[in-house]
Amino acid sequence: MNTQMITKLLIDAGIEPNEAKLEVRMLLEHFCKYTELDKCKGIMPDEVQLSILKEKVLERIKDRTPVQYIIGESYFMGEFFKVTPDVLIPRDETEILVREAIKRIKEENLHNVLDIGTGSGCIACIIAKNTDAVVLGVDISSDALRIALDNVTKLGINNRAVFRKSNLFEKVREEEKFDIIISNPPYIPIGTELSPEVNKEPAVALFAGENGLEYYRKITEQAPMYLRTGGWLMFELGIGESMYVKEFMKKDFKDITVEKDMAGIDRIIYGRVKNN
Ligand code: GLN
Repeated sequence: MNTQMITKLLIDAGIEPNEAKLEVRMLLEHFCKYTELDKCKGIMPDEVQLSILKEKVLERIKDRTPVQYIIGESYFMGEFFKVTPDVLIPRDETEILVREAIKRIKEENLHNVLDIGTGSGCIACIIAKNTDAVVLGVDISSDALRIALDNVTKLGINNRAVFRKSNLFEKVREEEKFDIIISNPPYIPIGTELSPEVNKEPAVALFAGENGLEYYRKITEQAPMYLRTGGWLMFELGIGESMYVKEFMKKDFKDITVEKDMAGIDRIIYGRVKNN
C-alpha cells in the first residue's frame, strides 16, 4: 500500500479526485503527523503511518462521514474549530458574511453582535477575535453550544464571545440591543436531496421548512426590536433565495445589499434597520 493506492480507495468510493487528494493530506497531517514539508523533502510515509491512514480512509468510506468529523476539526478563516456531528461544518462561503461584518464593525466602531444559530461558534469566534466587539451566540441545540464553548475557550476569547441556549430570540431580552444581528440560518428546503456527507450534518442546522425561507422570515420580523438605531441585519443566503429574503427585509430595512460568492451565486444580504 502507498498513498496513491489509498487515495484510489476514496476515488473508487465516489469521492472526487481533487477532494480525495486533499482529504488524504488532511488525514496524514492530523493522524500521522506527516506534512507536505515531509513530502517536499522526499520523505515517504512509513508503514505505520500508511496503516493509520488506511484505517481512517476506510472509516471515511464506510458511511461517507465527512472527513472533518473524523478529524474532529475544521479550518475556518485561519483557525481550527472543533466539530462533531452536532454542528454544521463551517463552509468557505461563510467567510464572505464574516468579512462584511468585520468591515462594518471596524468602519462604524460597533460593539455588540448577536449571532443566531451559532452552531460551532465559528462566526461568533472569528468576529470576536478580529474586532473589539462582544458577540452573543445563540442556538437551540445544547450539544452545539458545548462545542461553541470549547471553541471559544481554545481561542482564548471567552469573555468576548458568549453563548446562550435560545430558540432564535426567545431568550434574548429586548433591552439587550445589538449593532449587528448576523445569521447563517438553516436554509435548505425539506426534502432536498443531499450528498451522503451533508446528510451526516445535523438536520436542525440544515433544513428550514418547505421553501427554506422560514428562519429568514422569522428573524427579519423580530430583529428590529433587538437592533440599535441604524443597526444591521446580515444573512448568508441559500441558492436562489436572495429575492425572497430581500422582500422580507424591505419593510423594516434600508440600504439592502446583496453580494455574490466566487461562483456568482447571491451569497449574502444585509441591510440597515429603518429608524426604530
Ligand atoms: N453559524 C454556524 C456556521 O455558519 C452554524 C450555522 C448553522 O448551523 N446553520 O457554520
